[in-house]
Amino acid sequence: MIYFKTKGIVIYKKRIKENDATVYILTKKNGIKKIYAQGLYQIKSKNLPLIQTGNYLQIFGLKEGENLKLISVLPLKTRFLYFKKYPYLYLWSFSLLTKINLLETDDFLWKIYLHLERFIIKKNFPHYLIFHLLRILGFEPDLLRCFRCQRKLKKEIYFDGKKALFCGYCKKAAYQKISYWEWLEAIKIKSKNKIPERVPKFLKTIIKTYFKNLKRLT
Ligand SMILES: [Zn+2]
Repeated sequence: MIYFKTKGIVIYKKRIKENDATVYILTKKNGIKKIYAQGLYQIKSKNLPLIQTGNYLQIFGLKEGENLKLISVLPLKTRFLYFKKYPYLYLWSFSLLTKINLLETDDFLWKIYLHLERFIIKKNFPHYLIFHLLRILGFEPDLLRCFRCQRKLKKEIYFDGKKALFCGYCKKAAYQKISYWEWLEAIKIKSKNKIPERVPKFLKTIIKTYFKNLKRLT
């Protein structure tokens, strides 16, 4: 049994037995860690007020093989204010993480979750977050090449209405033509610096389809 110390953001906690809990923490480098918190729900528990979704904590615990056990936490940043302002979106951003198995933490993802208050206020944050989560997991929708022949997309761009873009040679009659201007708007979602002002409808559909498939995978 050894002591460990780590910094992380609380993404979820699940009550087990009467007073215990499993706490899921997003760490800076090591993805999502599952920590057992004995007696977390006991009335006298000092940890409970701090172990709330979104809080950034210094965590002290015990490691027994692969099992982590919580001893105590110190607050580095508590998120109560933002939580009150955007409760639904806030919880949604964290619930996304509970659906995936993240073994290491991408720097960009860490930046988003550590400074969620800066991102959450932007109009297209939900689509942006899902797109980049897909990218980090290796399931990024390809917006630059034809889904069938891999040709780089230029001015003639078509959408199958569900999940992919095609060139003028591979299009089918039922496909919808995407204007070049709209496509340029769409590829802005790849930016790591700026959340795009506009997310075209076809891109929203693609992101949704990919995310649904992802949920089936994990
Ligand atoms: Zn093609």
